[in-house]
Amino acid sequence: MDVDQFSKLAEPILDHTTKYYSAPANLDKGILDLVKARLEKTKHRLICARCGMWERVFQTFEVKTLIVCPYCKARQITATYYSDYDLPKIIRKKHDGKKLSTDEKHKFDRAWKVASLVENFGKIDITVMSGYGVGADTAARILRNMMDEEHLFKQIYEAERQYVVTRGFWDS
Ligand SMILES: [Zn+2]
Repeated sequence: MDVDQFSKLAEPILDHTTKYYSAPANLDKGILDLVKARLEKTKHRLICARCGMWERVFQTFEVKTLIVCPYCKARQITATYYSDYDLPKIIRKKHDGKKLSTDEKHKFDRAWKVASLVENFGKIDITVMSGYGVGADTAARILRNMMDEEHLFKQIYEAERQYVVTRGFWDS
């Protein structure tokens, strides 16, 4: 893994979740198993980030480590939530050389950020991004800190918990 590449991917600000990343050592294994089972079942729409022609909905457990676009042979495959029908259109628009709006450009740039994580980490990135509120920046940070599988799931769990706390839904 290229460390510099991931430093660039990581969000330099809005890093309010960092202090929660030292997950408790004694987190119940039963909880982690439940988290893991839920992440495996999460649906994603995978899309070729280069041509936007190939797209398919997968559950995490169905994702293969290496995905190549059957149309353009690109290895830059991005992932988004399964009901995101706009992103493939945006990618195709860009591929056709049409001008993107500011919002579309933002979504396109994020799609490439996710694609580079998928290219480097494959299914592990898809698993991490199955967490509630885990976007490209949080995923990049979790992957960079990854030590082993248990630690990985603890980090995802903590990121989800922090997301919920930040949103204020935890006690409702
Ligand atoms: Zn393609």
